Amino acid sequence: MTGLSRDRAERLAKAHACAHCREYSFRKLAVKPAPASLAEELQVVWVVVRTCGVCGVQSELGIQDDGDIVYEG
Ligand SMILES: [Zn+2]
Repeated sequence: MTGLSRDRAERLAKAHACAHCREYSFRKLAVKPAPASLAEELQVVWVVVRTCGVCGVQSELGIQDDGDIVYEG
């Protein structure tokens, strides 16, 4: 179980700037439950895949139960 809702995870992801151009405009953003391996290893509850609306870079974020963002790739 998680205390962090999907909506909250989405808002957190949108408030996290693009690592490449530092903009906050995303043309695609998908929030999905973290796979068990990731949940166990990094305590990630949601995985967000997003595409920057400015530079087009795709990035992936893992969001922990407490709202911390643990990786970006
Ligand atoms: Zn960008």
